[in-house]
Formats: sequence, C-alpha cells, structure tokens
Amino acid sequence: EKYTAKNERYDTMEYRRCGKSGLLLPAISLGLWHNFGDVDNYQNGKQILHTAFDNGITHFDLANNYGPPPGSAEENFGKILKESFVNYRDELIISSKAGWGMWPGPYGDFGSKKYLVASLDQSLKRMGLDYVDIFYHHRPDPETPLEETMGALDLIVRQGKALYVGISSYSAEDTLKASKMLKELGTPCLIHQPRYSMMDRWVENGLLDVIEDEGVGSIAFSPLEQGILTSKYLKGIPKDSRAAKSTGFLQEDQVTETVINKAIKLNKLALKRGQTLAQMAISWLLKDKRITSVLVGASSSKQLLDNLGSLKNLSFTAEELQEIEAILK
Ligand code: NDP
Repeated sequence: EKYTAKNERYDTMEYRRCGKSGLLLPAISLGLWHNFGDVDNYQNGKQILHTAFDNGITHFDLANNYGPPPGSAEENFGKILKESFVNYRDELIISSKAGWGMWPGPYGDFGSKKYLVASLDQSLKRMGLDYVDIFYHHRPDPETPLEETMGALDLIVRQGKALYVGISSYSAEDTLKASKMLKELGTPCLIHQPRYSMMDRWVENGLLDVIEDEGVGSIAFSPLEQGILTSKYLKGIPKDSRAAKSTGFLQEDQVTETVINKAIKLNKLALKRGQTLAQMAISWLLKDKRITSVLVGASSSKQLLDNLGSLKNLSFTAEELQEIEAILK
C-alpha cells in the first residue's frame, strides 16, 4: 500500500532558522547511521521514515559510509524515497557526508577534492538524487590544506550537487578558519554537526561561540549518547540494543556502572518533569537557541515518537539545571 503523508504533519514540529541562512530545520532530525543498513530490517526502517515525516521531521541525515555495509543506508534510503517520498522531495532536507574511510586506496578517505567530489557523485547515485540539500566534510583532515577542502565544498555547490555545505567535528579554531574561507568563496557554511549531549560537553568550550558569531547553525549528533541517555540501559543491557549488537558502534564496556548510575538519577529528575529520560536529554539541548536541531537515531517508530514528545516541555528551572549539573559532575 502506498504511503501518503499525514495532513497534520506540520502541526506540532518546531522549525528553527539554521544560523543566518534562509533554511529552517526541524528541532528534531533523524539520522540513518544505524538501523538502515543491509543488516537491518528494511520495512522497519521504512516505517520509521514514515513516522518521522508524518510528525514534521523534514530532515534526514546520511553519510557515504552508513550501513553496514558502507553505502547500504544510502541505497536503502534511495529505495524508500522512490517508494514513499517521490511526491515530497521538495519538503525534504537530505544530507550526506564524506570524510571517513569509504573505499580502498589514497582517494577514498579524509579531505581531498578528489575524495569529496567522487564520493558525493557515488552518494547521489545510491540515493537516486540529482542533488543533496546539505553536503558535509565529515571530519577534519590534518594533512589536507583547509583551502582545498573548503574549495571542494564550494565547487560542489557551484556544480549543483548540493545546495548548502557544512562541516562536522571541526574544532572551534578550524571552524572559524573554515567559515571565513567559505564566506570568501561565496558559499557560507550553513551548519556544523558536532557530538553534543548532556554527557559530552566539548562544544561549550568555544565552538558554540564561534558558530554564533559566524552565523552558522548547528545540529547535535548522538544526543542520547547512543541510547545511554534513555531508560533502556537502566536495568542492564537488553538483547536488541545497540550495545548488544555486533554491528553497533556502542560497545558493552561503554555502558559502565558510573554512567548508568548517572542515568538512573537523571531518569528520576526527568520523571519529575513529566518526561522520559530521552525526552529530557533532547529538551536540555534545545534550550540553547544556538542548537538548530537535535539529530536523533531510532531503531523503532515507538522510540522516535517518544523522542518527539520532548517538544512539549523545552524549559528548565534554574534548580533543575543545577540538579542536572550536580548529577553529571
Ligand atoms: P542517539 O544518541 O540518538 O542514539 C540513537 C539510539 O538510541 C537509537 O538507535 C536507539 O538504539 C536508542 N534510542 C533512541 N531513542 C530511544 C528511546 N526513546 N528509548 C530508548 N532507546 C532509544 O544518536 P546516534 O548515535 O544514533 O546518532 C544520531 C545521528 O547522528 C546518526 O544517525 C548520524 O546521522 C549522526 N551522527 C553523525 C556523526 C558524525 O561524525 N557527524 C557520528 C555519529 C552520528 P537501540 O538500537 O539500542 O534501540
């Protein structure tokens, strides 16, 4: 049966301006790093995407290497686009990236113009798209001159293969340099994609100030610490969880007693606020207006709906914020 999007899909989502650009992003976006590879259940992935769009999630985040195997998330997403979303392409913001190892030899990794241009061509083929909305350099490359990498991003936009460009996991210092370069080239940096959660605070040490000054938006990845900031690991490691799966990037030994004890305390506070822990973790990020969007993953529609519930309560009292800091200390 063919998918038709719900008419009410724009009723509850909040859209935020991405830096000083013309683009609005949903406060919650969906990432396809896990759960969309050939190792995963295709129908489940399709269902998650339907649920997302039906609830105003207009932004789907991919990368060349998502799977496993690498490339398969883009392929499966391309199939789902054809089956369900042909009529909605102009309502979607689709992103991809290159920067991590993708193919053998010296041209399938890091940040050369050769790699970025070739990789985006491959991504477009896999997804069956003429262009992506956002193309990122996925991680900093200490060897390649920043001028070359930023020049490649500018070129890709001029070639019509991406509308906007972004960078991921760049330090505050490199972000400032990259942003200045891109402005000069005439292709301003739309967005920075850093890791950011209650438990990983590196962006507060300079990066958020830089992006604000430069008019760059931001989207926080692994906002739930890959599941640790949800109720899922409070009583051990469930069999079907990312930490238990051999293809998951969260390792069992990362689910430590220390971390879980914090999660247990945070969970209690969340319940007092009338939220689940996942919801509180997302709301906590969205309280900062410099965070354009929170980029969650989900292995089921149910999880995604839980996460979307965070939008009902985005404010914190000073006491709650202090309590959170005390727990995380
Ligand atoms: P999260 O921290 O949101 O973790 C998502 C996982 O947590 C889910 O797959 C699920 O795992 C579990 N989960 C989510 N919601 C709930 C819930 N309500 N209740 C219980 N469990 C839940 O984000 P990710 O680490 O998946 O990263 C999100 C996206 O960020 C990626 O898909 C990717 O697009 C991007 N990313 C970018 C990177 C970069 O270098 N730029 C690096 C990493 C990610 P389970 O399988 O256990 O159910």
